[in-house]
Amino acid sequence: MERINIETKTKQYPVFLGEGITESLPHLLAQLSFPSGTKILIVTDETVEALYCPKLRSVLSQQYDVYTYVVPSGESSKSFENYYACQTAALTYGLDRHSLIIAFGGGVVGDLAGFVAATFMRGIPYIQMPTTLLAHDSAVGGKVAINHPLGKNMIGAFHQPEAVIYDIAFLRSLPEKELRSGFAEVIKHALIHDRAFYEWLKREIHCLDDLEGQKLQYCIHRGIQIKAGIVQEDEKETGIRAYLNFGHTLGHALESELGYGTITHGDAVAVGMLFALFVSERLYGVSFHDHQFCSWFQTYGFPTSLPPHISPEQLLQKMKGDKKAKAGTVRMVLLRDIGNVQIETIEDEQLLSLLHEFLER
Ligand code: NAD
Ligand code: MG
Repeated sequence: MERINIETKTKQYPVFLGEGITESLPHLLAQLSFPSGTKILIVTDETVEALYCPKLRSVLSQQYDVYTYVVPSGESSKSFENYYACQTAALTYGLDRHSLIIAFGGGVVGDLAGFVAATFMRGIPYIQMPTTLLAHDSAVGGKVAINHPLGKNMIGAFHQPEAVIYDIAFLRSLPEKELRSGFAEVIKHALIHDRAFYEWLKREIHCLDDLEGQKLQYCIHRGIQIKAGIVQEDEKETGIRAYLNFGHTLGHALESELGYGTITHGDAVAVGMLFALFVSERLYGVSFHDHQFCSWFQTYGFPTSLPPHISPEQLLQKMKGDKKAKAGTVRMVLLRDIGNVQIETIEDEQLLSLLHEFLER
């Protein structure tokens, strides 16, 4: 089992990473000072519940008082209704400030359960137990949220977990499109921070099937370290945490324009990263060899261009509406080189013509 320490200004906590480490859960919880008899509420979704909850409950219930709250699988579960119903469950089961919430699932469950934990009795401890690759990103950093009909992640908090316990054995049942979606964020972490890791990915991961065992673990390990390093410097997103938004300005616009769920987050971010590289080339006169990047992305099955019917004007409007846009001007995360990030404000007119050019390339 590997251990990565996360340090933020407000909290330090460990990430435990390895195959089959769920077996060691009682030992890890004891190490984290949760005495036997602690009330634990597992929050999970229907898919993960069916696959893995009986096992998790049997490991935990030897020492703990275990309850489960299950939401339907998918983004729509990050709703106020589920948030409220989960609080009701926590109250009904008699959880208090010494109780523990375990977010057992992907980013949806992590964000929902984390926000419940952030606000239940003004904040109680929680642990992230990720079961998707994308959750290497969402489980670290302490951002938790639910969606509002008027916008994604609009209601939330910063609440750091007590620990992240990442058993990569769970990832074996992950559908290919979910694995690919999470892998886009691994690539993002490499591109914004670490040329050596980027070279390693190109050398070692030839297709999604290579994402298993030690190689998968290394991807998660490096991804978490890079994200944690950035969050450590900038917990509340006032500066370099914006680097993590690489590929996301267009990615979010694309998801929203096509309708959430039509395209996975990772597929949208992949196109967004290609666009960010394209814009970087235009602005800085550098070359990232677009066709090589495209064929590299294609080997994993990522889309490499915008859908032909999409309207650049609509995309621009969505990009301007992004939470991270300042006063309606789009700020994009660009690269001068792999690992060398720069944030750039781009005027509407220029962005629109770049979008047209990218669409027609
Ligand atoms: P998800 O939680 O919806 O999981 C994707 C799908 O995989 C779901 O259908 C789920 O039931 C299924 N699944 C989960 N584990 C499985 C397993 N082991 N085997 C088979 N199926 C499994 O989505 P996600 O991609 O993990 O996370 C996306 C969410 O994360 C979004 O809501 C996004 O906003 C959020 N997010 C948050 C942060 C943050 O910093 N808080 C960062 C990135 C993303
Ligand atoms: Mg993302």
